[in-house]
Amino acid sequence: MRKKEREITDRREIERVLTEAKVLRLAINEAGAPPYIVPVNFGYRDGAVYFHSSYEGKKIELITKDPMVSFEAETDVAIIAPADPTNACEWGVAYRSVIGHGRARLLVDDGEKRAGLLAIMAGVAPEIGLSALILSDKIMKITAVVKIEIEAMTGKKHRV
Ligand SMILES: Cc1cc2nc3c(=O)[nH]c(=O)nc-3n(C[C@H](O)[C@H](O)[C@H](O)COP(=O)(O)OP(=O)(O)OC[C@H]3O[C@@H](n4cnc5c(N)ncnc54)[C@H](O)[C@@H]3O)c2cc1C
Repeated sequence: MRKKEREITDRREIERVLTEAKVLRLAINEAGAPPYIVPVNFGYRDGAVYFHSSYEGKKIELITKDPMVSFEAETDVAIIAPADPTNACEWGVAYRSVIGHGRARLLVDDGEKRAGLLAIMAGVAPEIGLSALILSDKIMKITAVVKIEIEAMTGKKHRV
C-alpha cells in the first residue's frame, strides 16, 4: 500500500469492517470479457463471507465456471467539506474499507446453508435475534447460498 499510514494492520479491525459493512462488491471473471462486478448484501464469519442469491443468473453461472473472485466493502463513509468549499482540492472522504480475494463455493449441505444465511442476517440486520429467525424448507430450497473462503485481504482507513 503506497500510503502506509492508512493501512489497517490489525486483523480484528479488518474483520470489523466486514462485520459492519452492508454491501459487498464482487468482481467475477468472465472469459474474454471485462470482470463482472455485482453488489450483494453479505455476512462475515470465521474468515469467509456469505451471500445469498437465486440459483439462476449471471453471477452464479460465472462463479460456477471460475470460483476465484475479488471483493470490496466499506463502512464509515463520509464526504468531508473543507472550510472553504470552493477549494476543490481540500475536499476529502472518510472511510474504512477492505479489499480481498477468495474462492467462491455454492453450498449444498443444508446445515452449511443455514449457517451461511444466519451469518448474512447477522451482517445485514444485527438487531434481530438470530434464534427468532424462520428459515422455512421452501426458502431453503429456492435460495442459493455462496461461501467465499477469503485467501487474502487488506484494510485501509482514512480520517476515521
Ligand atoms: C445494495 C444491493 C444489495 C443487493 N443484495 C443482493 C443479495 O444479497 N443477493 C442477490 O442475489 N442480489 C442482490 N442484489 C442484486 C444484485 O446486484 C444483482 O442485481 C442480482 O443478484 C442479479 O445478479 P445476476 O448476476 O444474476 O444478474 P442477471 O439477472 O443475470 O443480469 C445480468 C445483467 O444485469 C446487469 N445487472 C445485474 N445486477 C445489476 C445491478 N445491481 N445494477 C445494474 N445492473 C445489473 C448486469 O450488468 C448484466 O448485464 C443487490 C443489489 C444492491 C444494489
